[in-house]
Amino acid sequence: MRQKIVAGNWKMNKTLDEANILASEIKGMVADEVKGNVKVILCTPFPYLLPIKNLIGQDTRIAVAAQNCSEHESGAYTGEVSAAMLKSLGIGYVILGHSERRQYFGEDGKLLAKKVDIALKHGLSPIFCCGEPLEVRESNGHEALVKKQIEESLFHLDAASLQKVIVAYEPVWAIGTGKTATSQQAQDMHAVIRKHLASKYGEAVANEITIQYGGSVNAANAKELFSQPDVDGGLVGGASLKSREFAEIIKAM
Ligand code: PGA
Repeated sequence: MRQKIVAGNWKMNKTLDEANILASEIKGMVADEVKGNVKVILCTPFPYLLPIKNLIGQDTRIAVAAQNCSEHESGAYTGEVSAAMLKSLGIGYVILGHSERRQYFGEDGKLLAKKVDIALKHGLSPIFCCGEPLEVRESNGHEALVKKQIEESLFHLDAASLQKVIVAYEPVWAIGTGKTATSQQAQDMHAVIRKHLASKYGEAVANEITIQYGGSVNAANAKELFSQPDVDGGLVGGASLKSREFAEIIKAM
């Protein structure tokens, strides 16, 4: 059985007070309403990782994740945050390769391979994002591009390391646009990703990898998306900033 995961990517939103309110509302709703073994991950801005982790406390169904980490171990990299620092806070997950990092901060496959390595070295599970921009989808190059993104940043791993990675398929044209992939488009691409992982690591390993869908997931479309056999959860941006809607998305899993 693959682990089902619904993650909320808060991006660069909320003050500390607002973050505390959001997290405590989500904690309450998960405790009261969510059944089954779905894991919830709150991907908060760096300054809120520890306070939100402390607020969540012993609830093992909810974890806290960072949205990025440095590819460097430590040293003179002003403004950066290392995987070792995250680990020292007790953080277990880090988003890597989000399309906003690729687009606005020039992160490419080679750099992301280094970030994946350093995260794993320090015991963090990467939530590795991949996905194609609109023009690539329109020219039918989406499968090739996503396979390449996975090869460049993950295929150097051995099977034991790969099994610690969560993959998030996020078509760039669906992120923050209100334009969700259809459940069929999501399923097709998730199956392509799983098959590609199987070609390198074998089916048994590929079948254990959680593949999340991201891109305008909301309370209205989550159930249909999550009902697809290869969609193991969601990476939710905008809709994760509202506790009621996020709880409904978790319940749709
Ligand atoms: P969105 O963002 O749900 O607001 O489209 C998803 C993401 O960027 O992870």
